[in-house]
Amino acid sequence: MSAYVLARGNRAAIVDTGVEGSANAIGETLQTLGLNYDDVDHVILTHKHADHAGSTAEVMAMAASATVYAGEADLSGIDVDGITGVLGGEEVFGLELVATPGHTAGHLCAIDHTAGLLVAGDALFTDGGGVVEGPEQFFEDVPRSRQSIRELAALSFNTLLVGHGDPIEGNADTAVADLAASLP
Ligand SMILES: [Zn+2]
Repeated sequence: MSAYVLARGNRAAIVDTGVEGSANAIGETLQTLGLNYDDVDHVILTHKHADHAGSTAEVMAMAASATVYAGEADLSGIDVDGITGVLGGEEVFGLELVATPGHTAGHLCAIDHTAGLLVAGDALFTDGGGVVEGPEQFFEDVPRSRQSIRELAALSFNTLLVGHGDPIEGNADTAVADLAASLP
């Protein structure tokens, strides 16, 4: 499921809401952290696709006090009212939102500079312990995505979480730089 819960103290942020029907599973993840939906202040959507934003309405109903963010250019593709459009560069819950268009026009990544964690949505995929481009047919603009990958490769982070594929833990930025260097 493409949904992550990030906790600090007794507050939480959710990055992506997964496919439709994921709200209970996200709630169970919150419970394992000793939290519940009342503790969620922020919901960040990396992009509009239904496997990432599909439970947004359910999650908003549960996390009634949370602010929900998505890239401005993806808002029209998410059939939920009350989402705050962002352009990248904002800081939310200690995460910097990074505009990474290509997979979709409004795609966002979120980076925690202190923890060295990048949540990349579908801007990056992983396979076999390495970082790869996703399947081209799922990308709106492959050249623009490659530019976004080059920009991500310039950032410093240790851990990479992606929408599709296992996490990369340890020197993940080097793996992204390797991919960037291999792109045409
Ligand atoms: Zn996607």
